[in-house]
Amino acid sequence: MTDAYRQLLDATIAHVQGLKAASVRHLAVAPETFAALAAPVPRRREPSISTVTPINASISMPAKPAAKKTSATVSTPVSDAKAAAMADLRARVLPCMKCPHLANSRTQVVFGVGDIHAPLMFIGEAPGADEDEQGEPFIGKAGQLLTKIIEAMGLARETVYIANILKCRPDTPGQTAGNRKPTPAEMDTCKPYLLEQIRIIQPRAIVALGATATDGLLGKSEGITKLRGRWQEFHGTPLMPTYHPAYLLRNQALSEKRKVWEDMLLVMEKLAMPVSEKQRAYFLKP
Ligand code: SF4
Repeated sequence: MTDAYRQLLDATIAHVQGLKAASVRHLAVAPETFAALAAPVPRRREPSISTVTPINASISMPAKPAAKKTSATVSTPVSDAKAAAMADLRARVLPCMKCPHLANSRTQVVFGVGDIHAPLMFIGEAPGADEDEQGEPFIGKAGQLLTKIIEAMGLARETVYIANILKCRPDTPGQTAGNRKPTPAEMDTCKPYLLEQIRIIQPRAIVALGATATDGLLGKSEGITKLRGRWQEFHGTPLMPTYHPAYLLRNQALSEKRKVWEDMLLVMEKLAMPVSEKQRAYFLKP
């Protein structure tokens, strides 16, 4: 047992005992947290081809090239420390009550998912109803399209890291369906958790998905139409704003798909990923 793991275990036990003393009877614990606690030393992972099945989204994306791992994680003191830091952060975020109205309305905190060693992070604004129910960001229709975009880049969803600025679903009092955008104040309250995730992961590039996420991260309101396709900087990391996949579901014009794809080509170039001629030509008019 490593010192980092023992410290994490002690901190977790102390935290749970504190909750018990405060009469908290139920805790939402993600399966990955159990997995992290059960396996303190990450195993060597072999590069693998994605087995993700094509998704029947209402928008067509190019057939995915063979997905590649962009990082292979070997157990080292650094990877152990990263895993411990992320597990510690998760243990602090899951019971968070900083926004009482959201803590009361959420089903669970949606922490984030993916490879903590990923060179690429995708960041959206907040969980919707599907994500709130299942505890994973970007799994509704827009999320399925995001997965297809990732696969068109030659990656697999599990080789990137996906998170939102807000970890709880914005409440919708008086509404029986639909989601709402997070407010700037809500995003500011939750953003320190995202900054910690970024500090732990240390991605080489970030993609901000949509106007709300871009504004929330950069504090700009120039509009996504002007900002997309132009590299920005977020706490020292290159950040590419692009349209939210939900926008592409609403507007299926080839020209809009191409804009998002051109943004992804810039990201692939930034990460020195190979780009085939076929990939370069996606969504160009025949
Ligand atoms: S939105 Fe973020 S800061 Fe607010 S309660 Fe949820 S986890 Fe805490």
